[in-house]
Amino acid sequence: MLIVMKPVATEGDVARVCRKIESMGYRPHPMPGAQRTAIGITGNPGPLEPAEFETLPGVAEAIPVSKPYKLVSRELKIDDSVIHVGPETGGFDIGGQELAMIAGPCAVESREQIFAAAESVCRSGARLLRGGAFKPRTSPYAFQGLGEEGLKLLAEVRREFGLLIVTETIDPENCDLVEQYADVLQVGARNMQNFSLLKRVGRSKKPVLLKRGLSATLEEFLMAAEYVLAEGNYNVILCERGVRTFADHTRNTLDLSVIPAVKSLSHLPILVDPSHGTGRRDKVIPMARAAVAVGADGLIVEVHPNADHARSDGYQSLYPDQFRELMREVTSIAAVLGRTTAWSPAELAAQN
Ligand code: PEP
Ligand code: MN
Repeated sequence: MLIVMKPVATEGDVARVCRKIESMGYRPHPMPGAQRTAIGITGNPGPLEPAEFETLPGVAEAIPVSKPYKLVSRELKIDDSVIHVGPETGGFDIGGQELAMIAGPCAVESREQIFAAAESVCRSGARLLRGGAFKPRTSPYAFQGLGEEGLKLLAEVRREFGLLIVTETIDPENCDLVEQYADVLQVGARNMQNFSLLKRVGRSKKPVLLKRGLSATLEEFLMAAEYVLAEGNYNVILCERGVRTFADHTRNTLDLSVIPAVKSLSHLPILVDPSHGTGRRDKVIPMARAAVAVGADGLIVEVHPNADHARSDGYQSLYPDQFRELMREVTSIAAVLGRTTAWSPAELAAQN
């Protein structure tokens, strides 16, 4: 059930509806929008009676939600969600006019490596730095990340360069530690249906970057996001990172058609990861261009200062000068769609 408030409804009207929902033993989720506020209801075992709400002051209508997901749905919130990352003032809005450009190595490997990566991606116009301190690896013998030492290095880099930090949390206990350092909590593809982790990040104050599972349908992907919102964290950023198919010319098949599909069904922003999506360095820039053209709200890209000796995902990591080239090309395409990057038009003209 979705309660649509009238445009003239007051805060008091919204609060009254929320109290009513709580008194029934359910949870209200008010979602303010540009035109009107809508209130989602979770926890109800079955359909509710619209008249229970439609008689309250300020309520325009109470409508059943037609999709299995509720809070992530455009039916609940018509406007695109813009997710604020970082401190209250400053920080960065994901889903706004400026594309979110997140770049950095697959994993934090050393002080020297992460500082060099940060310096190069910052200079090229990334606003957020990626880098795993905890790595979910296919092999238990592969490099698992530096752990808390890696998080501390990321915090130092944030102080030095002003980049916001996107880093992965791999299980609910680990989240206690990672959320002390991260600006955005990444939930990796392998954990997209780790429901206890989804509930844990749903109780965090930090925004969540949720990557699509290796073989997740769109509905499964949105239902995973729904877990996070249902716990009260509405700051979810989706990420398409390729799915497994029969194709062997790339590591995964980057499903760019999911971007317009998500945009029509959900208000959440969606980014594209062309690095894991292709697995090959030479395919990253073309797919990054396509991702922006199809309407992605930004990119998360692996960039390594010494990619040929990376401890993980080196073959798909861009060299720093390639990331600069990616920024140049993506900035031109973004302009066609009325979007921007950190590059000013003058900076772009100087590079062309
Ligand atoms: C990563 O971002 O380094 C990563 C492991 O991604 P994914 O979960 O998409 O495989
Ligand atoms: Mn990686």
